[in-house]
Amino acid sequence: MRDTHQASRRGILRAGLTVLAGGIIATAAHAQDDKVEQSVVQYQTTPKDGAQCSSCVNFVAPNACKVVSGTISPSGWCVAYAPKSS
Ligand code: SF4
Repeated sequence: MRDTHQASRRGILRAGLTVLAGGIIATAAHAQDDKVEQSVVQYQTTPKDGAQCSSCVNFVAPNACKVVSGTISPSGWCVAYAPKSS
């Protein structure tokens, strides 16, 4: 009897974790969708006035950005550029 009760609790816990994991994945996918298109922020693949993605707080090495979609060059730039504090 006790084993059956524990087994069902485990099943409920496992189902809950599955739902939680699904929610996290869905949230991550939604966050990806929330990124701005490169054209909206005038992204370019070359630096501007010495500023470039590799020195921006939003840059995610090796080639992504927290706020702009698509492949981002470390030597690119856009109007959302925000320099890392030194
Ligand atoms: S300059 Fe623009 S594209 Fe480059 S990392 Fe910063 S926010 Fe992203």
